[in-house]
Amino acid sequence: MNQVAWTTPPTELQTLARALAEVGRTLHARGWLPATSGNLSARLADGSMAITASGADKGSLRGPPSGDVLHSSPGGEVLSPVGGRTSAETLLHVQIYRHTPGARAVLHVHSPAATVLSRIAGPAVSLEGYELLKALAGISTHDHVARVPVVPNRQDMRELCGLVQPLFDRGEAPHGYLIEGHGMYAWGRDLAEARRHVEALEFLFECELRHRSLR
Ligand SMILES: [Zn+2]
Repeated sequence: MNQVAWTTPPTELQTLARALAEVGRTLHARGWLPATSGNLSARLADGSMAITASGADKGSLRGPPSGDVLHSSPGGEVLSPVGGRTSAETLLHVQIYRHTPGARAVLHVHSPAATVLSRIAGPAVSLEGYELLKALAGISTHDHVARVPVVPNRQDMRELCGLVQPLFDRGEAPHGYLIEGHGMYAWGRDLAEARRHVEALEFLFECELRHRSLR
């Protein structure tokens, strides 16, 4: 883990880094970020990102001056601390911010229900009739079908970005998407909304799994 000191970070960056560390610890405690997996980011007003460092244990994330949360350019190049390293999946965060102008936070979790459902759902998970759909931005009734797309997993991030891109081109991922056998990406207008989306979707996926097991 990176222990390099930060170079006098601006207040907005410090605030977001501390908030990301707290969200990481909370989601880890729920079992959604096991074994250093997942990555979390928030976008600053200038378009740059606060993003978790590669390999950081999300259960013990610390804010500045630790190197657990890095400052990167909008394209994902590390600005501070010098020598910091982001996850290869940073490219997926960059892609989401680029194609979802309202997104200010992206949370990638390896949550159990999302991971299992992504393996059996086919090209999308349809969620219908659940009250908690209303926790997703823009949905005001249970009488709604929310489709969460599933893309195949790849280790080559540019290839994976290529598989995800049509979702943005066609406007098919308003809140997030699943990667098959891997986990969930969800975002929001701020960190609180992104976290609400992760919690709501994981709850809905869990309900959907249990419902399917009864059929
Ligand atoms: Zn992942």
